[in-house]
Amino acid sequence: MRLLDGKVAIVTGAARGIGEAVALKLAEHGAHIAFTYVSEGSAPKAAALEDRLKAFGVGARSWRADAGDFTACEGFVAEVLKEFGTVDVCVNNAGISKDNLLLRLSSEQWDEVMDVNLKSVFNMTKQVIRPMMKARRGSIVNMSSIIGIRGNAGQSSYAASKAGIIGFTKSVAHELGSRNVRCNAIAPGFIETDMTHYLKDGEAAKGFMEKIPLGRFGSAEEVGSATLFLASDLSSYITGQVLSVCGGLNI
Ligand code: NAP
Repeated sequence: MRLLDGKVAIVTGAARGIGEAVALKLAEHGAHIAFTYVSEGSAPKAAALEDRLKAFGVGARSWRADAGDFTACEGFVAEVLKEFGTVDVCVNNAGISKDNLLLRLSSEQWDEVMDVNLKSVFNMTKQVIRPMMKARRGSIVNMSSIIGIRGNAGQSSYAASKAGIIGFTKSVAHELGSRNVRCNAIAPGFIETDMTHYLKDGEAAKGFMEKIPLGRFGSAEEVGSATLFLASDLSSYITGQVLSVCGGLNI
């Protein structure tokens, strides 16, 4: 059964990692996909992903758009609406980490993380809620992190941005529930992507593994499946929630 047949889904930061897996999972379930990336170097990967998405028989197009830039998001969503007619699902996935102990963390690093991780969620959500409210349906899924719940040394900016996403998600759920627009967050634990590449080997990795009841890092596909659940009607009575996809790291 395809859970999103004919629906239109936006995924930010989908040229690689979790975003790529989310886009593939939603397309496999019949959603047309509009996705973004930001680095020039990711353009060939984005073009290749368009082809892989189209192989599921759906429409797919990528845009190079900085999720942290309000005007760029405004322009991106306007083009998506022109091309695809509506937006049913918005996955705010784009994110970065600039890990540094607070003593060494610069104001510029703080601002960059806040813009890309938190302001991006405001930028995109602000654009997609109008068509969703008009259609009286919609699902917004925001990629938070387990670090936004428990914090971590060296990740104060990242943790603050991801905790901010949770507060934002719950508030939007309160505001838009009456219009049947749902807003939830996912809190991944350690997922194997470029972002966590440096954690995979050595003593640090062993330390992390010991804290994860399932005893392994998660895959981007596993976050994709959780996103599909929250994007589709399988979760029609769920809003304002944070779904941890972390192998039990949070228990
Ligand atoms: P990743 O492999 O580093 O990929 C990040 C993606 O975001 C890339 O496609 C990148 O685009 C895009 N991006 C970065 N800045 C952007 C911007 N300003 N505008 C638009 N796109 C931008 O990261 P990931 O591990 O897949 O992480 C995806 C999300 O999950 C992030 O929000 C991250 O915080 C969250 N998360 C990850 C983990 C984990 O263990 N991996 C755990 C918890 C939460 P380019 O390819 O163009 O650079």
